[in-house]
Amino acid sequence: MPTAAPRPCSHPGCHVLVRDGTGRCEKHPRPVWTKPKKAATKRITGRRLQRMREELFRQNPLCVRCQELGLVALATQRDHIVSLEEGGEDNPANTQGLCDEHHEEKSLAERLRGRTRGR
Ligand SMILES: [Zn+2]
Ligand SMILES: [Zn+2]
Repeated sequence: MPTAAPRPCSHPGCHVLVRDGTGRCEKHPRPVWTKPKKAATKRITGRRLQRMREELFRQNPLCVRCQELGLVALATQRDHIVSLEEGGEDNPANTQGLCDEHHEEKSLAERLRGRTRGR
C-alpha cells in the first residue's frame, strides 16, 4: 500500500488529494516533457529534404488551407500534417504545402497544444 501522505494535486486549481506520492491526480499526470512517451521523429535534412520539397510543391503548388477556404495562394512551406513532435512521420504522406501565413498559424497551434498537454 502507498505510504506517502495525501497531498493535493499540484495542477493549478485542482485540489484532488493524491496518495501515491506523484503529486498529481489521475486527471493531471505530470507534463510529458518530464517523461517523454515517444521520441520525436528525426527530421529529414539536406539533399533528401530538398528533393521531397520539390516533389511536394510540384504535386501541390497551392496552400491546402487556402484552397479549403476558397482562396488561392502559393505553398511556400513544407508542413507536417501531424507534427514530428507529436509522432508524425517525415514522409510524403504526412506532408502538405502551406503558405507562410497558414504555416505560422499551424505551428502556433502546435506549440500551444504542446504546452497545455496533460490537462
Ligand atoms: Zn489534478
Ligand atoms: Zn494559406
